Amino acid sequence: MEQMLRRTWAEIDLDDLTHNFKTLQQRVGEKTKIVGVVKADAYGHGALQISRALEELGAGYLAVSNLDEARELRTAGISMPILILGHTPEQYVPQLLEYNITQAVTCEAKALAYNNMAKACGGKLRVHIKADTGMSRLGFLCADGHFEAGVEGILRSCELPYLDAEGIFTHFAVSDEPEKPESVAYTQKQFQLFMDLIGALEARGRTFPLRHCANSGAVVNNPEEMALDMARPGILLYGCGAGAEELGLRPVMSLKTTVSTIKILDPGWSVSYGRMYKTPVRTRMGVLPIGYADGLFRILSNRCSFYADGKILPQRGRICMDMCMVDLTDAPGVDVGSEVEIFGTHSRVDKLAELAGTISYELTCAVSKRVPRVFLQKKKVVGRELRMYL
Ligand SMILES: *Cc1c(COP(=O)(O)O)cnc(C)c1O
Repeated sequence: MEQMLRRTWAEIDLDDLTHNFKTLQQRVGEKTKIVGVVKADAYGHGALQISRALEELGAGYLAVSNLDEARELRTAGISMPILILGHTPEQYVPQLLEYNITQAVTCEAKALAYNNMAKACGGKLRVHIKADTGMSRLGFLCADGHFEAGVEGILRSCELPYLDAEGIFTHFAVSDEPEKPESVAYTQKQFQLFMDLIGALEARGRTFPLRHCANSGAVVNNPEEMALDMARPGILLYGCGAGAEELGLRPVMSLKTTVSTIKILDPGWSVSYGRMYKTPVRTRMGVLPIGYADGLFRILSNRCSFYADGKILPQRGRICMDMCMVDLTDAPGVDVGSEVEIFGTHSRVDKLAELAGTISYELTCAVSKRVPRVFLQKKKVVGRELRMYL
């Protein structure tokens, strides 16, 4: 890591991604294509490198949230199918066509607008119909009294001559809560509604080559039933989230830092802003060059721990913008320059997320642009990405 400041960095292990992909492919079955969800810079892991790896592994599709994310992949030479899950304003249809990107269609008004723009461009826009089965976010309403209107709206949208309706999909609200009976029932209800919708459309002569609904939660809890033609795991690919550990998935990202300074503090000394920690005894305190501006949430102050040299090290006092302190009293082997894992292979990000009252998604997404990504294969560095203009 010569050209990189050895301060704080995120290691992205592409062998772990491969392991996770293969495990998930096996779980959903060979007939189901995996959609690699790489929105939000692949949950902070680096969308380009992750997408290249997924393309090589044989993923069927990539999914992003918006046009800029899709363009980033195309510009870098990714040629496999890409689906935009979120909204794209109709004036960007020329770009969707130019970059050969598939767009979610979430209501009839948007289908009409996209169709008109595609017609003006002389192209045909590939789309996936999004059905709202209970998330109440994007998609054709089709629950309860809206079923018939939903079917009709989707049928009319699919008949538009400048749209190519390749797929239909829906998204689950609570598929990752198998311990709550009402959540299990809600997911079943969403799935049943989705299948009923597809059945009603089929009865009217409209079929879709790509039907998909399974996010990570469904891949963990209902893989056979809900896999359909494609499955859309995001967090599981990165080895995190509910059920990841049980499935033997490996955390792809390890956020690492180094000890910059060590001080021996006398008993009764206060540490960092707010003086929330006071040394009860003589303490060997390390200063780590990582803070909330790197993505280590301040709410974790004085209640998390890190890993180094086979030991769990308690973090002490307020986490600052650029630094925090760690107790090395019981870890004499950890010295200035030693590597410390904030989360990753030895201490799962899910645990840290729970301490912060959030989910692992938010922590990996929060790793900031100040933190270089280092890509590993067979434990060797195969790529580095500085996110700063250096
Ligand atoms: C983000 C997202 C996913 C992936 O969700 P995970 O919980 O990470 O598996 C799948 N589908 C849609 C529509 C999404 O927005």
